[in-house]
Amino acid sequence: MIYFIGAGPGAVDLITVKGKELLEKADLIIYAGSLVNPGLLDYAKPECVIMDSASMTLEEVIAAMVPAAQEGKLVVRLHTGDPSVYGAHREQIDLLRSYNLDFEIVPGVSSFCAAAAALDAEYTLPNVSQSVIITRMEGRTPVPPKQKIADYAAHKATMVIFLSSGMLDKLQHELIRGGYKADTPAAIVYKASWPDERVLRCTVGTLAACAAEYNITKTALITVGDFLGCEYERSELYNPTYTHMFRQADPSKLNLKPEVK
Ligand code: SAH
Repeated sequence: MIYFIGAGPGAVDLITVKGKELLEKADLIIYAGSLVNPGLLDYAKPECVIMDSASMTLEEVIAAMVPAAQEGKLVVRLHTGDPSVYGAHREQIDLLRSYNLDFEIVPGVSSFCAAAAALDAEYTLPNVSQSVIITRMEGRTPVPPKQKIADYAAHKATMVIFLSSGMLDKLQHELIRGGYKADTPAAIVYKASWPDERVLRCTVGTLAACAAEYNITKTALITVGDFLGCEYERSELYNPTYTHMFRQADPSKLNLKPEVK
């Protein structure tokens, strides 16, 4: 059996219980060494074979996994964050299917969730943004037409931009070209949940300067939008004047205050 496991954003205790238990049982672990915290490998049993995929091709990864799985070994492919976000696990799955091998995907905490936590932020604030756009700048990996930064910027929704911290001059230019004002709040979250995490609050117009000042060129997420500001409306879900499936409206509860000790 082959498990694709989300390692979480960095901190070793942000892997799921299921992910950790599988690491403990694994006979072969192939991990994405560029971003997965090597501390997670301490969960492996001593005889487990461990390979870093950073210098491997897709074909080499498959060539390592297939014989091990065919011998009945427990194989773990450990991806950073959640595998579904820029994880490149689909191409592995499709090749494994062609060998009739069983696999399962174990989700993980994506770095965009860890970045929100580091910012004390909610991406989907009522009446500010009800959508989160996860995207990236075009680099050596092309981005399809109509999915460029400027296309998305026009929506003024929350944006979380992966894989782009080395291109911030261009990114801020594209965000402004798409419709964001230069003074729109933005933040750079470097190594969310790692011990050396950094949270830099800035604006769209100062993204590049801010990253240059703190020498940030990789392992960072760029978040953009008014969810980083101070204005929003309270939720209806928890509003005493609002009735829903689990609660009858009771406006008198608007006066409810905690007992202060
Ligand atoms: N599957 C991963 C993303 C892999 S792409 C996930 O779900 O998070 C790699 C990019 O993710 C990096 O270039 C960076 O933009 C971002 N990233 C990964 N871990 C990060 C972290 N702890 N803090 C900030 N950004 C991170």
